[in-house]
Amino acid sequence: MSEVKSKYLVDERGYFGKFGGAYIPEMLYPNVEELKNAYLEIMNSDAFQKDFQKLLKDYVGRPTPLYFAGRLSEQYGAKIYLKREDLCHTGAHKVNNTIGQILLAQALGKKRIIAETGAGQHGVATATVCALMGLECTVYMGEIDMARQKPNVERMKILGAEVRPATSGSKTLKDATNEAMRHWINHPQDTHYIIGSVVGPHPYPDLVARFQSVISEEIKWQLKEHEGQENPDYVIACVGGGSNAAGAFYHYLDDEAVKLVAVEAAGLGNETGKSAATTALGREGVLHGSRSILMQTDDGQVVEPYSISAGLDYPGIGPFHAHLFDTGRAKFVGATDEEAMISGVQLSKLEGIIPAVESAHALAALDKVELKETDIVVVNLSGRGDKDLETYIKWGKY
Ligand SMILES: *Cc1c(COP(=O)(O)O)cnc(C)c1O
Repeated sequence: MSEVKSKYLVDERGYFGKFGGAYIPEMLYPNVEELKNAYLEIMNSDAFQKDFQKLLKDYVGRPTPLYFAGRLSEQYGAKIYLKREDLCHTGAHKVNNTIGQILLAQALGKKRIIAETGAGQHGVATATVCALMGLECTVYMGEIDMARQKPNVERMKILGAEVRPATSGSKTLKDATNEAMRHWINHPQDTHYIIGSVVGPHPYPDLVARFQSVISEEIKWQLKEHEGQENPDYVIACVGGGSNAAGAFYHYLDDEAVKLVAVEAAGLGNETGKSAATTALGREGVLHGSRSILMQTDDGQVVEPYSISAGLDYPGIGPFHAHLFDTGRAKFVGATDEEAMISGVQLSKLEGIIPAVESAHALAALDKVELKETDIVVVNLSGRGDKDLETYIKWGKY
């Protein structure tokens, strides 16, 4: 992992510009402090890097290809490459982070892993690496989400994890997060909490971004092989909490000529109230332990987001992206359910790749940037569409 110093990355105080920090109950200080004081030294050690790189290669299947999408390129009149995170083991980028964090947990001497999950994708990625390492795994999940995402609940159980229902409040992700926090407070010594995106209190956004930064590290040398240059004109990625986008943007942050496009889920349209487009609808506040931008009512209650895609159905964005939005370094666009589904089917028919509905939002942004014939565009294809077959069938227009 090459060391990057950038005004767009975290500072010594744990802030990305004015966003980030660690807004946590006092009871959690010891856990978060331990992690904060140890993570960089561990992650930068030769022993850690050796294990991490080996697992990324042999277990995850990295490097993932950078694929020139010829027929899609013809359609848009630009050179379009797809970074194939859909080909990672478990079918999405999330495993890059869970592999990193399980090794971190081991280095810290932790014996148990907890995680929270909304749609179940992060829970599955966590259960996967716990099986790999033989660590006990407890995943908190809202009772309503468990009913909605049954296959992922069963996947986690097959992998040996215990799935604990969160039965308070709205019985969704927010409540699962609260339960996981409570568990962590009660088991500070032996437990590591694996957060699944660039969200949560410092140091999580930074450490997750670092683990995912392998995506842009690879894009650079792969594009050099294809095009003789490391830098594309555009990098496009979808944003739920923002981990796949953080990974795809990471090594381009200071190359201001590379335009970064972050795509949020606009659901049925921002004016309908059924959306998850945080930068369009939200304002500053504190969510999941950090200062960022989130969708909230006038008196600060978190608004339930909506998107056809479970992975983008999050009421905020991480501080990493709040800062990119605030500084204008990344352009934020929204893609509706309809636009994403059309783009997902289009990619399937043009390239023989059925994308995750999350990733289909990134593809939909190809219609929202002014492309020239000479432009080189990298779209981060965060996941594969197998998990979304029901959604495609229900939508029906293919
Ligand atoms: C979870 C998920 C996302 C959204 O999470 P980020 O942290 O914003 O990357 C995007 N795509 C896929 C396939 C996912 O599983």
